[in-house]
Amino acid sequence: MTAPRIALVTGAGRGIGAACALRLADQGWDVAVNYARNAKAAEQVAAQVRERGRRALLLQGDVADEAAVRAMFAAIDSAWGPLGALVNNAGIVDMKSRFDEMSTARWRRMMDVNVLGTVFCTREAVQRMSTRHGGAGGAIVNLSSIAAVLGAPGMYVDYAASKGAIDSFTTGLGRELATEGVRVNAVRPGIIDTEIHAASGDAQRAFTSASIIPMQRPGTAIECANAVAWLLSDEASYVTGSVLTVSGGR
Ligand code: NAP
Repeated sequence: MTAPRIALVTGAGRGIGAACALRLADQGWDVAVNYARNAKAAEQVAAQVRERGRRALLLQGDVADEAAVRAMFAAIDSAWGPLGALVNNAGIVDMKSRFDEMSTARWRRMMDVNVLGTVFCTREAVQRMSTRHGGAGGAIVNLSSIAAVLGAPGMYVDYAASKGAIDSFTTGLGRELATEGVRVNAVRPGIIDTEIHAASGDAQRAFTSASIIPMQRPGTAIECANAVAWLLSDEASYVTGSVLTVSGGR
């Protein structure tokens, strides 16, 4: 049995997720396009998937809401059947802040979206993909961050810690599912030119930070999407539990 070419990309309305959706459509995947609030942006991505000759399914839902995640997977099941790829891309940062000024509510939301959002989606995916559950296999890619390694001191250690959890989760689950037809990997971007930096209070960060990047420029969403698409492809058939850094050398 080969895994169906049906992919869910969370947070696919903008940035890296949107680039992943289009890259996967170019490679023959039908794409379920999840978003949180910005319906217009996600509709445009879905339209671009269809222009590439693939099917698109628009799915509003907060990945931190377990019931909403279940409903998204049920919608994919009934529209297309079980999926073969999941990209856990949806993620947030918060305003630049010292640790001792961060609220508990902020920590909880960071962990809810970046960690539990990935966990909830992955749980549903594994139940459909794993040969242990009668599935045809599949592949999962999680979006980590170079912050998991650098720690983001004085900026957002909460975000860095949430991405550290993603790295450990990827390593462990990749090994746990290694004989069940499911590969689990992560892409660890450096500073990428997307709208996420506005949420940290510095919309221009990707460009003002260029001098601290060995390649002296921010990365693009498509450069991350290329890595995601490769990890999902059969070319990466012997790769699992790995974290691929895409950071211009940082
Ligand atoms: P972005 O431009 O801010 O886009 C985020 C996307 O995620 C949007 O489509 C947004 O939906 C969606 N989203 C946010 N919260 C969500 C939730 N609770 N449920 C469902 N969807 C949600 O972000 P990005 O820069 O592309 O980042 C994508 C991923 O890469 C994140 O995990 C981020 O941590 C990681 N990353 C980014 C960078 C970077 O420099 N950009 C570096 C390292 C890692 P709406 O459009 O509806 O708001």
